[in-house]
Amino acid sequence: MGKSMHHDTTTLARYVPDLAKDKFHVWITKYHYVPMIVLGVILLALGGLPLLLWGIFLRTVVGLHATWLVNSATHSWGSRRFVTRDLSTNSWWVAVLTFGEGWHNNHHAHPVSARHGLRWYEVDMNWYGIWALKKLGLAHEVYRVKLSELRRQEEEEKEQVAAAPAHQELVSV
Ligand SMILES: [Zn+2]
Repeated sequence: MGKSMHHDTTTLARYVPDLAKDKFHVWITKYHYVPMIVLGVILLALGGLPLLLWGIFLRTVVGLHATWLVNSATHSWGSRRFVTRDLSTNSWWVAVLTFGEGWHNNHHAHPVSARHGLRWYEVDMNWYGIWALKKLGLAHEVYRVKLSELRRQEEEEKEQVAAAPAHQELVSV
């Protein structure tokens, strides 16, 4: 599996320099297993082995598989809204399992956008959470792709295709 991102503070410092300066987040990145062990001990004390298995091991396995589905399933099945240099797709069922990460073609086309679901029907629970944090003043400078800009681009592309009908034939040769 190689080096996991979640405890690689050098990589995180590049992408989230503000969090890399925050003492709590530096600590939790290094010692991410501590809350898990504490919770595990509490669950074991409260409900024995079954509660520990459901509350720690099963949810971890389900969570990891759902995460990996993003880079496997949504590079194999689904629809493609944007022409990207990869095989990324949008998949509603991966989006359901991953709270919105399944809108993966949208993500590849707009990699730094916090919002992945770009249509009203593209349910993106992660974005709703970030949006709520922003409204509460707990998240700042959240970048998201502007939907109005996107619509304008799509209109322009449609007009270009309509203006040059022979273009597609040339490309497919
Ligand atoms: Zn991808």
